[in-house]
Amino acid sequence: ATPVGLLAGTGRGAQLGLLIRGPQVLEDTRRIDTVVLDKTGTVTAGELQVTALEPFGDLADDQLHGLAAAVEAGSEHPIATAIVASAPSVPEAAFTASNFASAAGGGVSADVVLPGSGEPSRVYVGQERWLAEEGIKLSAAERDRLAAAQAQGATAVLAGVVDAAGPRVVGIMSLQDTVKPGSAAAIKRLREIGLRPVLLTGDNEQVAAQVAAEVGIAPEDVFASVLPEGKVDAVKRLQGEGRQVAMVGDGVNDAPALATADLGIAMGSGTDVAIEAADITVMGSELGQVVTSIELSRKTLSIIK
Ligand code: ADP
Ligand code: MG
Repeated sequence: ATPVGLLAGTGRGAQLGLLIRGPQVLEDTRRIDTVVLDKTGTVTAGELQVTALEPFGDLADDQLHGLAAAVEAGSEHPIATAIVASAPSVPEAAFTASNFASAAGGGVSADVVLPGSGEPSRVYVGQERWLAEEGIKLSAAERDRLAAAQAQGATAVLAGVVDAAGPRVVGIMSLQDTVKPGSAAAIKRLREIGLRPVLLTGDNEQVAAQVAAEVGIAPEDVFASVLPEGKVDAVKRLQGEGRQVAMVGDGVNDAPALATADLGIAMGSGTDVAIEAADITVMGSELGQVVTSIELSRKTLSIIK
């Protein structure tokens, strides 16, 4: 293969809406046998809807939602977008948040003055494990309600508070995502060209299992409740089993795993950080384009050879 020919291949990619980092990438598409797919935003639309609000203390539904929205206003996570976009606009649900902080794969926090209090409370919105690290633990009854929400296939997010009255959970919000219309067909095609799909997510096991079943990924090929750092470990684990791994993702959290994989593929609809870490970027947001990009790159290489 001549370098000129290979570059012509990458130029053809550009015409078809693919950005291919360099000629070596075409070779890499030949070797891969496993394709790790980030769930949120890659297999699913990443456009969540708030489907249930369950306050535990004396907050009304609207207040729980408004409080979470105030804290999430500083985050770009799809969970934050969903909570903020659907927040009620009534005055009693309006809160002012300051000193925003974010923990990747955990959640967000901020200072908020709660009704009937003169002092700011620290408010946390995120997943159970992260709130526990911040000293906010669920009672047995609260844990049952969280499990019930997750059993519905929801991404359940907790709101918790730490102030003079002590750490406590103030409610659960359930969010639901939807699988993109083309994802199941794209995953079927991946199998047809001899690639094994693996699902990787920071989300809980029930949600992951439900999505996997919907798109035809085997239960043993699902990695759930994975921390952002853990995404790299999952790729390395598969590589350690002798697999040649492509990773497909869109989020900031996916960038290290995209860089670690033998082939990193970013969705063009995703974040700049993911695109920078990737070998191939497909325009748009459809998983089918990822499969097309692999097929095209392989074919381009065989024309050159
Ligand atoms: P994924 O990309 O698979 O959704 P993340 O690592 O981004 O995974 O998030 C993992 C989990 O951490 C989420 O399912 C959620 O429970 C929690 N989380 C992360 N960011 C936020 C946020 N901004 N608000 C609430 N929860 C969050
Ligand atoms: Mg993601």
